[in-house]
Amino acid sequence: MSKGIIVKCPMCKTSVKRCNEYFPFCSPRCQTTDLGNWASDTYSIPDRSDAQPYDDDEGQPVIH
Ligand SMILES: [Zn+2]
Repeated sequence: MSKGIIVKCPMCKTSVKRCNEYFPFCSPRCQTTDLGNWASDTYSIPDRSDAQPYDDDEGQPVIH
């Protein structure tokens, strides 16, 4: 039986043994990073890349 299964960490591509506590990640850091990516994907805002910065300089002279 092969109990020494090794996979690549999804985050940093480091070889990870199946017995690793954080399998399939190599470390708690990579595990947390992946969860963070997943969360940000889930809550990603619909395409707003076209949104332009608000332009408050429309040629209106400010009268004091
Ligand atoms: Zn890793």
